[in-house]
Amino acid sequence: MPGDQEWRLSLYKELAARLNDFFAVFTGPYCLHCDRVMGRLPEAREEAFELVDGVYPGCCHRGAGDIFRLEGQPPERCRLAPEIVAGLKRERAVVLREQGTAAGGSYTIRLHRDRSLLTGGHCRYFTPEGCCLGVLKGPLCIDFVCPPLRRDLLEVCGGEAELIGPENDFLNIYRTLASISWDGRGRAENEFSGFCRRLSRLGSLCRAFLAARNQVTLFDFFMPTG
Ligand code: SF4
Ligand code: SF4
Repeated sequence: MPGDQEWRLSLYKELAARLNDFFAVFTGPYCLHCDRVMGRLPEAREEAFELVDGVYPGCCHRGAGDIFRLEGQPPERCRLAPEIVAGLKRERAVVLREQGTAAGGSYTIRLHRDRSLLTGGHCRYFTPEGCCLGVLKGPLCIDFVCPPLRRDLLEVCGGEAELIGPENDFLNIYRTLASISWDGRGRAENEFSGFCRRLSRLGSLCRAFLAARNQVTLFDFFMPTG
């Protein structure tokens, strides 16, 4: 059993692990084809581009992985607890050492509207194979479902917006992260269990939705090719 200083970090990593599993099964293909997903946004035509150099990182832009804010929480709870941040930083340093120069980098796109070139930076944990952090991702990286993805998940669960939560607070995760950070252990574990129930329910709804339509992935159903 983790000691007093470690249970918060353990609970955080357990929550990230469960979300990683959900994302891997149900939303991974969206992020692999981010350019097609973004094409569904109303502003897509205006923002259309082609990749000229490097790997397009989707949401994983420079700095995104190092933000520990908990948006929408009261000021005294609006950041991960210092012991969680310290633990994440300590374990990330090991991962970064192992990755060497594979992580980070940049990319260049050409905007269709005026043919101008734009260069952007990858998050320093972004590799050609995706994020190298696993359960060490920050809050910003486990809280977000972009508008097209959220719309599809809403359809999957019959429009139950209170289950999905806002785009930048998937499944109302910030409330759970604030509890893990600042509440006593019993209360934090209760909140964590509630989050796990919401996530598990959404996973069941996704599986039932796919089975009823004889589909393998949500991406294939909502974004068929051809
Ligand atoms: S969440 Fe949406 S915008 Fe972000 S990488 Fe995935 S598909 Fe792209
Ligand atoms: S930490 Fe990982 S998921 Fe988060 S922005 Fe960086 S590469 Fe993307």
